[in-house]
Amino acid sequence: MLPALKLRVSPKAETILRGGHPWLFADSLRDQNRPGSVGELAIIYDRKDEFLGLGLFDPAGPIRVRMLHTGKPQKLDRAWWQQRLAATLDRRRGLFDAQTNGYRLCNGESDGWPGLVLDRYDSTLVLKIYTLVWLPRLDEIVTLIAEQVPHDRLILRLSRNIQEAAAPFTDGQVVRGTPVNGPVVFLESGLRFEVDGVRGQKTGFYLDQRENRRLVESLSAGRHVLNAFSFSGGFSLYAARGGAVAVTDLDISEHAIASANRNFALNSALSRCRHESLKADAFDWLVAAPARSFDLIILDPPSLAKREAERPAAIRAYGRLARRAIELLRPNGVLVACSCSAHVSTIEFLEAVRKSAAQAGRPFKELRTTGHAPDHPATFPEANYLKAIYLSVAG
Ligand code: SAH
Repeated sequence: MLPALKLRVSPKAETILRGGHPWLFADSLRDQNRPGSVGELAIIYDRKDEFLGLGLFDPAGPIRVRMLHTGKPQKLDRAWWQQRLAATLDRRRGLFDAQTNGYRLCNGESDGWPGLVLDRYDSTLVLKIYTLVWLPRLDEIVTLIAEQVPHDRLILRLSRNIQEAAAPFTDGQVVRGTPVNGPVVFLESGLRFEVDGVRGQKTGFYLDQRENRRLVESLSAGRHVLNAFSFSGGFSLYAARGGAVAVTDLDISEHAIASANRNFALNSALSRCRHESLKADAFDWLVAAPARSFDLIILDPPSLAKREAERPAAIRAYGRLARRAIELLRPNGVLVACSCSAHVSTIEFLEAVRKSAAQAGRPFKELRTTGHAPDHPATFPEANYLKAIYLSVAG
């Protein structure tokens, strides 16, 4: 049998790992006793040769090890994994009642499962893997999940960058339980949504926006609402239930528009709200916007900075979007501007929107800012991607 894989790291990395950061970068490695394979357990030592932690090894990635444990030496046996999953599930206990059966059960690094996400949509589970290091343990993980989370089926999703190397696993494969035959419908705050767990964006739904949707519902009575970057209409259904007079969905994707229309049909009690869907590029549409105005505008674009280099352009784009939206607001109108770009910090985003609001030349009031949903904890800086700001304009 091969000797255990042992790594020694730079003093700086040592401090960072001891502080609880889950990533060990390749350029922080000082010493390695032998080549390691994908997903192999690596033992990390500090400069005094004392045990520092354990993680999953990735021979090719810039993130060379994803940490599972730091502190005292520990055996990662079956009981340890069972306990880790139980603690993850426990963090959600009491967060949701029977009106919400779609939520995140495991949020990757921030729950101690680096690069692994588990979402529940009623009795369908979607397991999304963002790194190859989990694949050698996939059977074990699926069994573990089955022991603690009852479900009818478990769908495996693979992030685009690992799909090719993950063979024979395929993106959207049902790895446990019954095949998917028809849309999966689940409840969020009592509203019914369909989700495409096999092909949809993320794991099929933006579960991270639930709390912002609830706030939007509370701001919608009697309002004309524009939901820009609407995807499957999440914000729109809440607005309709909150008493909006009319809701306009705006998205560039035909699939997204069709799915939002089906979600409205699934909630027939909302039919008193006028609902229209526009398939258009939201940047262009907002600039060229015909003589239209709204009482409430939601801006929830996709990540505008996928890389660090795109950060300055993304900040400008957030500013442009906010500026244009504010111009389209009626007196006493409200803007809800969101960013899911991890490369744009909370303060950069908030300042860009505040600056735009000031430039628009209308007196405005900041109502609130929000961050991560409770089932999407963020325990280290890079995990902190979601931020939103609510503004109201006076006249
Ligand atoms: N607010 C949604 C999630 C938005 S995800 C929710 O609560 O579920 C981002 C959406 O923006 C996707 O549906 C994508 O199709 C859409 N999109 C991306 N680029 C766009 C563009 N330039 N104009 C309009 N929509 C766009």
